[in-house]
Amino acid sequence: MRYQGIPVQKGVVIGYISKGTATLERHDGSDRIDVDEERMRFFDALLEYESRMKKIAHNAPGKDASDIVRAQIMIARDAVFSDEVIAGIEAGMKAETAVDKACKKYSEKLQESGDKIFAERSNDLLEVKNGIISAMEGSGEEGVADAETGFVGNILVSDTLSVAQIIGLKNSPIKAVVLTTGTASSHAAVILRSMGIVAVLGAELDITGLEDGQEGIVDGETGQFIVAPAGVERDWYQRKLKEYEVEKTLARIPDGKSLPSTTSDGEKIEVLCNLGTDDLPEHIRLSDGAGLVRTEILFAQKNGVPSEEIQAAIYAKIADSFPGKNAVIRVLDIGGDKTYGMYGDELPKSLRNKESEDNPALGIRGIRVLLDDEKLFKCQLTALLRASHGRNISILLPMVTSVGEIKAVKQLLAACMEDLNKRRIAYDKNIRIGCMIETPAAVMCAEMIAKEVNFFSIGTNDLSQYIMCADRGNSAVSGLCSIYQNPVLRAVKMVCESAAKYGIPVTVCGEAAAQTDVLPFFIGAGIRSFSVAPSCVYEVKTAISKLTLSSCRQLCGVVLEESDDEKIREILK
Ligand code: PEP
Ligand code: MG
Repeated sequence: MRYQGIPVQKGVVIGYISKGTATLERHDGSDRIDVDEERMRFFDALLEYESRMKKIAHNAPGKDASDIVRAQIMIARDAVFSDEVIAGIEAGMKAETAVDKACKKYSEKLQESGDKIFAERSNDLLEVKNGIISAMEGSGEEGVADAETGFVGNILVSDTLSVAQIIGLKNSPIKAVVLTTGTASSHAAVILRSMGIVAVLGAELDITGLEDGQEGIVDGETGQFIVAPAGVERDWYQRKLKEYEVEKTLARIPDGKSLPSTTSDGEKIEVLCNLGTDDLPEHIRLSDGAGLVRTEILFAQKNGVPSEEIQAAIYAKIADSFPGKNAVIRVLDIGGDKTYGMYGDELPKSLRNKESEDNPALGIRGIRVLLDDEKLFKCQLTALLRASHGRNISILLPMVTSVGEIKAVKQLLAACMEDLNKRRIAYDKNIRIGCMIETPAAVMCAEMIAKEVNFFSIGTNDLSQYIMCADRGNSAVSGLCSIYQNPVLRAVKMVCESAAKYGIPVTVCGEAAAQTDVLPFFIGAGIRSFSVAPSCVYEVKTAISKLTLSSCRQLCGVVLEESDDEKIREILK
């Protein structure tokens, strides 16, 4: 069931409903009274009310809220108001009734004025009345919810809430408030906003039809309140919730800084992002740099391979989006399942006139294409070198299967440097070179490769495909082409050991890096760097912060001894 209200404070809360208490019972004034006693009860209640409200003003979230509370104290202190109450008592009313009548009288006058601000003051009067009467009846400070059932949810639904009641929510489990009354500029709205409580006011619903403990969703952006949501609605809002969390976190991170990332026992773990565009989302600020820039996707968007100058400008732009951090840019990885069509006339030499390969995944792909087309490769290497001047850029090589390929790349790079020297163009002479570890051959000779490069990046997508001989694009073998397969996990562990022996860092940049259930295995195996889609950085950093190094190491040991992929899944879940 969906109800519409006025959106007051942005955010999404998915949870359980607590209904607010009913409004206070009023006396009918028919009892016989002792005038002196009632007068005394009124003045005692005034003192009690004032002291409660001062405490509330002290706890108020910000100046606006404390000004509203102080204004209510001033109303209660007003001599005209006290005189009116005393006159009522002397006319034979009980103190509660006299307070009720006095407040109503002034409230009605203010309402009649038709002025918005005066109308708001009339709500203040009603709240003052409730506050004084509850002090008079010794009913404790105004609380909300759980009065009858003892149930405390995180979505409070009520007809009204006083300023005092809202401020009292400060340390409560309530994360969202839905009121059937109020407007976007009412006092309730001002205070809910300043407390950051997701809120919808003026909702068109009858709260008697709700039950404590019912599931609900409050969307403070659209003003929707959903009771007993359907599964799809819940899933949709779960995603929206994540986006809000990221937005909120982004707002807290100062420019140029990233979200800290350590395990709960203080081990620093880097979370970088994977990019395939130079049109970068704001989310990248949460990351510790760019861990994998897939230039084949970048070029496909540019409808072909850009010139050296344009490439250099694109790489510079990407690196400049990560001030003080590193940008790892992977040279073209085409061939295999990565379509050639997008390169049009500029198709690399080795792929030209090639109708198809019988076995493209095992054909001309990645570094093989580049080493076969010197012109294309040198253009990209030179552009990367040019962009590296004054920036922190690293080059990453895809689909490597031998040390010879690395050596060949280094020779070409040296030639590009020589060419730039002649052209008097500056570049980073110590540019770092990394090797993708995504073939069984690279795993087996990882120690030899480690001597030639500055870092490794494990591509779990291809590594799973090639280790398990299971096409990454074929759903019939998706269970085999999986990170949960013991041989794939063992390969990761072997690569970590080889890298550690030569003191080079290892990043995991395949899709498995964003699978939070696999993170403890990776960390236990020795991985201290992950590269994931920008939208996953927050979730991965949050998951890391809940892990301890010792439990990760223990889990890694257990998983490596388990051969059944279903059991591995269970252990990691
Ligand atoms: C991988 O293979 O895991 C990887 C990161 O590279 P791509 O998905 O681009 O092949
Ligand atoms: Mg790959």
